[in-house]
Amino acid sequence: MHRKLQASKYLRMVPRHDGYALYHSLYGGLCVVDENILHLFDVFRTPQSVHDVLDTNNAHDKERLASFMEVFEEKGFLVEQGFRESSRLEHHLEKVGKDLHRGAQVGVVQLVLTNLCNFRCEYCFVENIYVSDERIEAQASESNRIMRAEDARVYLEKVIDLAKKNGRTALSVQFFGGEPLINWEVMKFVLEYFGSGERQGLDISYSIVTNGSLITEEIAEYCKKYKVSVIVSFDAPSGKQRRCTNGKNSAELVERSLSLLNKHYNRVAFNAVLSSETFEVFGVELVDFALRHYVFEIGVLLDLNPEFYERYAAEDIVDKLWEVYLHGRQKGVQLTGYWHMIFQQLVHRDPYRVRGFKTCSATGCQLSIEPSGEVFACKGSSGHFGSILHPDKLLSSRNYRKYALRTFRNSPECAGCEIEGFCSGFCLGPLEKKYGDISVIEKNTCAVYRKLTRRLIEDADTEEVAVFRMQVLEGVSNHVDE
Ligand code: SF4
Ligand code: SF4
Repeated sequence: MHRKLQASKYLRMVPRHDGYALYHSLYGGLCVVDENILHLFDVFRTPQSVHDVLDTNNAHDKERLASFMEVFEEKGFLVEQGFRESSRLEHHLEKVGKDLHRGAQVGVVQLVLTNLCNFRCEYCFVENIYVSDERIEAQASESNRIMRAEDARVYLEKVIDLAKKNGRTALSVQFFGGEPLINWEVMKFVLEYFGSGERQGLDISYSIVTNGSLITEEIAEYCKKYKVSVIVSFDAPSGKQRRCTNGKNSAELVERSLSLLNKHYNRVAFNAVLSSETFEVFGVELVDFALRHYVFEIGVLLDLNPEFYERYAAEDIVDKLWEVYLHGRQKGVQLTGYWHMIFQQLVHRDPYRVRGFKTCSATGCQLSIEPSGEVFACKGSSGHFGSILHPDKLLSSRNYRKYALRTFRNSPECAGCEIEGFCSGFCLGPLEKKYGDISVIEKNTCAVYRKLTRRLIEDADTEEVAVFRMQVLEGVSNHVDE
């Protein structure tokens, strides 16, 4: 008796100019197929044995067709009749849940060097996103303004211990603020003390999110020496949304800093926000400006304020971003962001098993450490976990568990969504603020994520994204595995 296979209920198809893109909405594995293969999946709508399909198919090359079916089964596109497909994810979730209290998920530290900032950006989330008592107190507390060098050392050593106990070989440290360079001396201390982690016995990589106004020759040199990825917040050359506290526009300062960073051959990316405040000025000039300053990557963060998605139609937001994305691609500047990570993960399989999260690192992988040592899920979240001085207590806290288990399931409402396995949903901070709950979805933002993902799938350069390309003509097949 031959076992029977059927098409997965999670199989999704997107028509393209050169055929059809297929992927599994939980496990990814995007590939491009032609009409004949699509027809094969039609056949498998009802359970069939491979043997029968091969027998009835007038394929010229049955062996190859059989090998295709093997590949599709391996990708999860074809499954055994009656197989409960979500069980893989459930097993994984169960395992992750068991190891959470040991810190097995933790791989990213957001080190909040200071809560002070020399800018007053119109849309800064710090002004309006926070809700929990712990967060509000941390923001207001005088003693939580600046991290001391000795504290930074102790905090990082605690996380390194944790990472090593869990067999991790790498840790990523992101310097964050406020404006982290206001506390440059402590950043410098961390770089000199921990370096790339040789003494600690694991690889430490660094990045900094900065408004780009305080870069000096020394900072540029250090960033190069310690391979710090410098992420400069910048929305548009003509934008006036990022103002210094003295009221001046920041663009000039940023340009000066970029020259210094370029002089020392630093790796620089922009972080731009597409929001109600920047919608009119966000455009292709950003790409041209980036190129002039040797910046080849622009992360685009979509507005954290849910009202943006009521004010603008999803299609208009997508069109706006898409125009800049295409211009960037033409000029060799990559636009990225959470929306793009969804697509990238669709191409590969089960990425969060390796990385530990889908798009939002605040779901258990990241500890955002304040100057006081209090730990939150992210600077953009009010989710409080405890103190880094007591890691065991922190990791056993209800809040840590709640946030960490959201890594794989945003909300029951995501069941059946075409990007269920890859999308982390809306940023946690605004969900906490609007709903007091992180296991909900913000419907208007879903439409934007789904539309963007579709466009990326339709447009994906098969060379660039290294997908499978398969062509079968009346069963005669020709399979390129890139
Ligand atoms: S948050 Fe929205 S877009 Fe994302 S998986 Fe859930 S339903 Fe889909
Ligand atoms: S909470 Fe928001 S800002 Fe923080 S990692 Fe998640 S999506 Fe990004």
